[in-house]
Amino acid sequence: MKTIGIIGGMSYESSIHYYERINNQVNAEVGNLTCARMIIYNVNFEEIRKFMLNNEWDKIGVELASIAIKLENAGADCIVIATNTMHKLADYVQKKINIPLIHIADCVAEKCKQSKVFNVGLLGTKYTMVENFLKDRLKENGLTVTTPENQKDINEIDRIIFDELCKGEIKDLSKKYYTDVINKMIETKGIEGIILGCTEIEMLIKPKDIQIPIFDTTQSHIDSIVNICIEKVSL
Ligand code: GLU
Repeated sequence: MKTIGIIGGMSYESSIHYYERINNQVNAEVGNLTCARMIIYNVNFEEIRKFMLNNEWDKIGVELASIAIKLENAGADCIVIATNTMHKLADYVQKKINIPLIHIADCVAEKCKQSKVFNVGLLGTKYTMVENFLKDRLKENGLTVTTPENQKDINEIDRIIFDELCKGEIKDLSKKYYTDVINKMIETKGIEGIILGCTEIEMLIKPKDIQIPIFDTTQSHIDSIVNICIEKVSL
């Protein structure tokens, strides 16, 4: 069994799902009392959020890299950053360690390709939707990626993530906002699937809420981690 090093806490609402489901799925595969070898370093997200709002990404990079090094030194065989947005720093972190970083975009792209869905919409924080770090990685994986174009939609999707979902608040009005944006992308861009590119969105949007397949980054990441942990796939 491999040991998984997880950088979590961004937010802890979604890191809970990583911890619970990785253990559940490893146990379902192996049986008896088996659970996953993993080391979780939970950051104080409030500190990270302040750096984000001040545009001090270099400080976040230094923090995440130093955590990844600690996890490697503690015996992790690979590193997981349990958030999409922080993959803005994935290349920087990867350069500082000697073990592989399991990139969330590769995991979800694999699921899209398995379902033969190549034209996808992407929702996430404004960083994930507007900047290219995640979109480019999805494109490198052969996907065509559409994000909301309307600034009001981008701001509201982002606000709902940080003001509600990261605090565990699920609101019907916010669900309606998200589904309206997804439906708009289906009508205008012909997207065939929607990537939930933020690890909390799966708490709000369920497959029954929309007419096209959902590709959830949290669950895709977890499925890959489980396969690595039980050595179904090699690192
Ligand atoms: N968990 C979210 C994501 O997947 C947002 C929190 C963050 O900014 O890291 O992007």
